[in-house]
Amino acid sequence: MGWTERQRAMLNEMGIRLFQPDSHLVDRCATSDGKQDGSPLSPAERGPATRETRPSPPLSARPNATSPREAGDAQRIATLDWPALREAVASCRACPLCERRTKTVFGVGHERAHWMIVGEAPGEQEDVRGEPFVGKAGQLLDNMLSALGLTRGEAGPAAQVFIANTLKCRPPGNRNPEPAELAQCEPFLLRQVALVQPKIILAMGRFAVQSLLRSTEPVGRLRGRVHRFGGVPLVVTYHPAYLLRNPEDKARAWEDLCLAREVAVTQRAAEQIEA
Ligand code: SF4
Repeated sequence: MGWTERQRAMLNEMGIRLFQPDSHLVDRCATSDGKQDGSPLSPAERGPATRETRPSPPLSARPNATSPREAGDAQRIATLDWPALREAVASCRACPLCERRTKTVFGVGHERAHWMIVGEAPGEQEDVRGEPFVGKAGQLLDNMLSALGLTRGEAGPAAQVFIANTLKCRPPGNRNPEPAELAQCEPFLLRQVALVQPKIILAMGRFAVQSLLRSTEPVGRLRGRVHRFGGVPLVVTYHPAYLLRNPEDKARAWEDLCLAREVAVTQRAAEQIEA
């Protein structure tokens, strides 16, 4: 987002520090257990300062360019409203994952949420319930969101997030998604982002990042800075399932959430100034 001098001055008066895309957050955020955390990232953690992900093209330009779906099909999905999009996902048979799914996992949350959380693919419990991020990983995500005053439960758009996965059907045996499956499913996620119009996207895990940023770099090298997806600020962080296996990275995930919060607050403040 570009800032006018007037916006900069008013944000400064409000005590809101402007973020710069790809800059590193050095603010301290209180952790959920009340401690202070967040020493600046070391050069090794940051990776090369000039490293960039490939810029994401505008949402409207992506489906045809990146998906093997028939061009007309991707274009049709890009025009659907919420009910039609839900129906399209529920009846989709565009990739082999449809054969063994119990339920499609469309996503949950506020349809105009300020925060959009994008995960990877449904696991066993998600497949049964038709909801993303359930089980222990879901509980950890809920706790992380709660620490920021966010929820997947009923609330206004500033507090209730929208949660979606890159894949809407479970890969058998929880195997990794295939690139072709991600490509086939991508128009659904693109349309969800276009309908929600979030102020911040939190991409959790390698496959969410692959899908949204077109990057094969590891999460550890992409986190800690602000990316863009179709003009929407995007912060990369670890998937909760990864954090359950690697609790030593929870502090870094918290830094990422603090960065995302700063971006969201700044975006909202700027919009209020413009209104
Ligand atoms: S994973 Fe996506 S593209 Fe594949 S069948 Fe399910 S909804 Fe369709």
